[in-house]
Amino acid sequence: MDVNEALALIRRVPDFPEPGVLFRDITPMLGNAEAFRTVVDAMAATLDDVDVVVAVDARGFFFGAAAAYSKGLGVVPVRKAGKLPAVGGRAGYSLEYGSAELEIPADIIQPGQRVAIVDDVLATGGTAAAACELVELAKAEVAGITVLLEIGALDGRQRLAGRKIDALLTV
Ligand code: IMP
Repeated sequence: MDVNEALALIRRVPDFPEPGVLFRDITPMLGNAEAFRTVVDAMAATLDDVDVVVAVDARGFFFGAAAAYSKGLGVVPVRKAGKLPAVGGRAGYSLEYGSAELEIPADIIQPGQRVAIVDDVLATGGTAAAACELVELAKAEVAGITVLLEIGALDGRQRLAGRKIDALLTV
């Protein structure tokens, strides 16, 4: 199976979680062994010259952890506020629908490390921008942002201008 066949399993769900939002549901792709392996391998291939992976709550955990494992790297969860027992920093962000805060665990990322941020979908870029802010608060360097799917019309790339962005597919 190639990457495009794997990504074709993503299901489009209109009006979720709110009217007017077309939600990309990755669960059919995740549940397919060949597709999951194919996209994880493709994401892992973007992680050169990286010391550690930051995986974004919640769907980024699947890809960030699996890609980090395959590259022999550690993985650090960046989580929605209130989930981490020891918080190293917090950053607010607005979403395609709503707003929220992300937190990074204290004292895991070391100053100067090169950090790859992994998530499932890049939409407006608010989530990825907050994850970048947290990495930089830890005095580490954002090596790049890797996502499965970029929703081009929402201009996330513009919001993340100057960052290296690897998307397996842009729609
Ligand atoms: P952004 O902050 O607007 O770029 O939105 C990206 C974040 O929202 C990611 O963490 C995604 O998991 C989530 N997200 C936004 N739109 C979708 C979607 O259509 N499918 C799955 N996740 C989405």
